[in-house]
Amino acid sequence: KKTVPSDIDIAQAASMMTITDIAAGVGLTDEDIEMYGQYKAKIKFDTIDRLKTAKDGKLILVTSINPTPAGEGKSTVTVGLADALKASGKNSMVALREPSLGPVMGVKGGATGGGYAQVLPMEDINLHFTGDIHAITTANNALSAFIDNHIHQGNKLEIDPRRILWKRVMDMNDRALRQIVVGLGGPARGIPREDGFDITVASEIMAVLCLSSSLKDMKARLSNIVIAYTYEKEPVTVADLDVQGALALLLKDALKPNIVQTLEHTPALIHGGPFANIAHGCNSVLATKTALKLADYVVTESGFGADLGAEKFLNIKTRTTGKHPDAVVIVATIRALKMHGGKPKNELTDEDAKALKLGLANLQKHLETIHQFGLPAVVAINKFHTDTDAEIKILEEFCQNQDVPFSLTEVWEKGGEGGRDLAARVIEAIEGPADFSYLYPLDLPVKEKINSIVQKVYGGSEAVFSKKAEAQIKQYEEYGWDSLPVCMAKTQYSLSDDPSLYGRPEGFKVSIREVVPKLGAGFLVALTGDVMTMPGLPKNPAAQKMDVTDDGKGVGLF
Ligand code: ADP
Repeated sequence: KKTVPSDIDIAQAASMMTITDIAAGVGLTDEDIEMYGQYKAKIKFDTIDRLKTAKDGKLILVTSINPTPAGEGKSTVTVGLADALKASGKNSMVALREPSLGPVMGVKGGATGGGYAQVLPMEDINLHFTGDIHAITTANNALSAFIDNHIHQGNKLEIDPRRILWKRVMDMNDRALRQIVVGLGGPARGIPREDGFDITVASEIMAVLCLSSSLKDMKARLSNIVIAYTYEKEPVTVADLDVQGALALLLKDALKPNIVQTLEHTPALIHGGPFANIAHGCNSVLATKTALKLADYVVTESGFGADLGAEKFLNIKTRTTGKHPDAVVIVATIRALKMHGGKPKNELTDEDAKALKLGLANLQKHLETIHQFGLPAVVAINKFHTDTDAEIKILEEFCQNQDVPFSLTEVWEKGGEGGRDLAARVIEAIEGPADFSYLYPLDLPVKEKINSIVQKVYGGSEAVFSKKAEAQIKQYEEYGWDSLPVCMAKTQYSLSDDPSLYGRPEGFKVSIREVVPKLGAGFLVALTGDVMTMPGLPKNPAAQKMDVTDDGKGVGLF
């Protein structure tokens, strides 16, 4: 039974308000925004500065259980909840990440929500939007060009071409570019060396853009990026190449938050899009902070499950914004819980109480994680047509037994109206006690920081470090880089580093194969298991269903 048209059909049939009217709704005038057509705009730096003294609204973070490859509806619930808050008379706003073209063309799909809980203009946002991701790609690759040119022109800094950390990027899943050789073809074509491509959303430039609080801060962060080591194994930074100014110039407009609207005309800031498995997984600090100044309730989202996006939101982003969420919504779906209970992925629409009950352990772990941070959690059951009443009852009873507020959420089918109860539960949760604390202090040794995440968030026994990772950590301690937070790179499908371990695995070890310094972003990345920073496309990519009509309308974007 399907009562709801496709995401793109709903989006194309919607009538949008002009972006000036949307902005006016939160007190912004024409002077405060730069228009990118009728329905998109960027917020000016002057305006962001002016708002600094305004009071902050409440921050609601939406996360989820470990997802199926299709996603469990975090963006959908984020948008729907903001619409529901607005429908209940609250001044609310959405703060989301920008979609990457890798998953759009691949399997995961876009990132503009779904059904009747979407942000618009959906096609633009999922494709090139206001060009931020292209600007990031360009800045990243300009830096690669500057590095290769420096070596070609005599290599005054004595960069060891075998020890260059900086990689090229593109915003696509392209496994053929993971490892490449550049500079082939003789002296006129540079110095041959091994290189590789990451996806743009894993670039440190993306992280820098997302964590910067101003242009000045961004330039300082860009200067600090470690790009390579010399033959003497001394770190080389962007400041040594003296190109931080050029990179900041390329990014000056990309740093401004984008404002758009939901289907129900709630203002939405969509800005920055790091993945949560191989990057820190949160929208930009500037967008979140600006939204908090403009609205009483800001609903934001972090990528994948609470083991990834939410952990990083709380341990990394919160240290930069200085503002922790007032409540956390954990999105759970019956289909994903059945997967966690051992049901094969192609049978998740079949009723199965036994698998569901077994799979609840995954939700339980994420609830415990949020409570460990001292934050109130609300479970949003994102309702699918295939969920049976018996299954819903099992999940609701579980939440009752856990003494955690929950709400059966129908925003996908009904828009904000389907999230009114969730909005009420969330407001109650915000009014209750919260006692936020970070999971680890920054002065804890690097290995202990990693172990605290492995044990307290993943529920594993310990982290096991490769020889390489051991040596790197020792080196970073000598350089004085060990007081940074850790950004884990891990599969999104499991609490462990093994994507095939569903549910709530226990006693597992997490292997740390490498630790990479990201001093511009301000964290160390710990690469676990086989996780890769350039994804590949699936056998039947979503791209095969896409088209454009003769009059320029997109087709097949979900
Ligand atoms: P996430 O943010 O968790 O990755 P999304 O919100 O992007 O997930 O949703 C992924 C896809 O699932 C979207 O195409 C959306 O339309 C669809 N979806 C979300 N919720 C529902 C639902 N309740 N019923 C049917 N489809 C849904």
